Amino acid sequence: MADKPLIAITGASSGIGEATARAFADAGYPLLLMARRVERMEALNLPNAVIRDVDVRDRAAIAEAVAAGEARFGPVDLMFANAGVAHLADIARQPPEEWDAMIDINTKGVMNTVHAVLNGMIARRRGTLVMMSSIAGRKVYPDHTVYCGTKFFVHAVSESLREHLSQYDVRVQVISPGVIETEVLSGVKDEATLAAYRANKAAMGGGIGAEHVANLILATYEMPQNALVQEIVLTPTRQR
Ligand code: NDP
Repeated sequence: MADKPLIAITGASSGIGEATARAFADAGYPLLLMARRVERMEALNLPNAVIRDVDVRDRAAIAEAVAAGEARFGPVDLMFANAGVAHLADIARQPPEEWDAMIDINTKGVMNTVHAVLNGMIARRRGTLVMMSSIAGRKVYPDHTVYCGTKFFVHAVSESLREHLSQYDVRVQVISPGVIETEVLSGVKDEATLAAYRANKAAMGGGIGAEHVANLILATYEMPQNALVQEIVLTPTRQR
């Protein structure tokens, strides 16, 4: 059993999830890492890590992963519901299957993730839920129609969870990044959308490194339990 409590992360195989896993590992926390690309999580070579092949659409798989992590390191104290996809496209051209994936992964997947730890945190009267939204969960952008819908969902659910869970001393934090340098664009198949996104990103001088999001999550998690940074909004300075 490690000295520090268990940190669980979905979407830990790349981008912000990977950077957050590295930041917490450097700070000495044991980890439960979940995603589908197991080899990418293993290649991180982080100490005290339970790694599980989890698709967040599979509620049972998340529950099994949490049970495995908790059997080794004790209760999950922070759950980062981070896994998500961004199939950005002109809504009139977009195949409906891309909406299905975004809605299933970014909304139901987040609920499945929360569900796996919620009652344990309530019973212990302790825990932190970190909910990955986006600046696109606060305002709309061109070609982000359903993506924005899923991220507005995360904001609404998080607000409700925060109000409900405060009586149990469980913290709920929303992360709302702007453009961060990750593999998230791999979900964009619409060439015109991709070109416009890249031009916009270049105009703002590029995105921010994922480690900056990770460092903020670590710093705010380590504040006293009775202190909650309700939302982190981190964007390139020039982003609108
Ligand atoms: P990446 O594409 O690098 O990471 C996405 C992660 O989600 C991967 O680890 C991927 O793992 C995982 N994932 C995707 N689908 C599933 C699934 N069905 N089950 C389990 N895991 C899944 O991009 P980011 O790091 O940028 O994305 C992380 C989150 O940040 C997303 O929710 C995204 O919407 C959000 N975000 C990103 C911004 C950005 O500019 N980069 C800005 C605002 C928000 P695998 O494929 O191995 O399963």
